[in-house]
Amino acid sequence: MWWSYQDVEEQKKRLQREIAKRQKRGEKFEVLPAPAGQKKLSMTFWGQAWCRNLESYQDYESRLPRGRSYLRQGKVYNLEIEPGKLSAVVAGSELYDTDIAIQPLPQKQWKQIVKSSAGQVGSMLDLLAGKLGDGLMKVLTDPDGGLFPKPKEIRFNCSCPDHADMCKHVSAVLYGVGVLLDTKPELLFTLRGVDQAELLSNASNIAITDLSASTGDLGGADLSAIFGIDLGTEVLPEPPAAKKAVKKAAKKKIAAKKVAKKKPKKD
Ligand SMILES: [Zn+2]
Repeated sequence: MWWSYQDVEEQKKRLQREIAKRQKRGEKFEVLPAPAGQKKLSMTFWGQAWCRNLESYQDYESRLPRGRSYLRQGKVYNLEIEPGKLSAVVAGSELYDTDIAIQPLPQKQWKQIVKSSAGQVGSMLDLLAGKLGDGLMKVLTDPDGGLFPKPKEIRFNCSCPDHADMCKHVSAVLYGVGVLLDTKPELLFTLRGVDQAELLSNASNIAITDLSASTGDLGGADLSAIFGIDLGTEVLPEPPAAKKAVKKAAKKKIAAKKVAKKKPKKD
């Protein structure tokens, strides 16, 4: 079908009327803002890494440029990221509902990531800003063992008539995730069904264990004698009860985690 400039303008107006009508009915319609011009779609570490991952798969190559241009034109609305699921409304010739299912990160893979991250993630802020060591970044963004979904873990469904392959609406939504991760990088972990805090808590558990292990053998020994210094009365050897409390707290934390994991998942 050939389109004239007037046709395109008319179509735009028709869609705007449709959106206004739905908004009047109380439906939510929030456009996903994307940078215009030559600027990159994503500005931050996680957003850019997400887009790079998408572009690394040949299966998607032919459809991605159309999706990118849809996103730049502000045609993606109501992008929602939930565990294992993306959804959005995309304005094509009509308003299309696009749903994308993304398998949660396999437990084994996540455990491996947690293990590799041990002691390397300084804070949640560093993690979400991508301020991590090169080695760890490689682990997290690895196409096979990292956090991003592989094509075989992605299934999509769009209400448009294009059933042949991944349509431009799905492609626009996938790129949209990269844009959204710029402001909400934690949603990557939500999407993959994992708790990013585990990357930290693992590190802090080790710190607590190390602390109790290093003071464990001292018991009630006279620290002033050992270190040859006068500690004064306020900082006398840590009473065994306090050490026990630290160990107990660490154990409790682990136990609480186990209980939380055992809880049946609600759908
Ligand atoms: Zn579509």
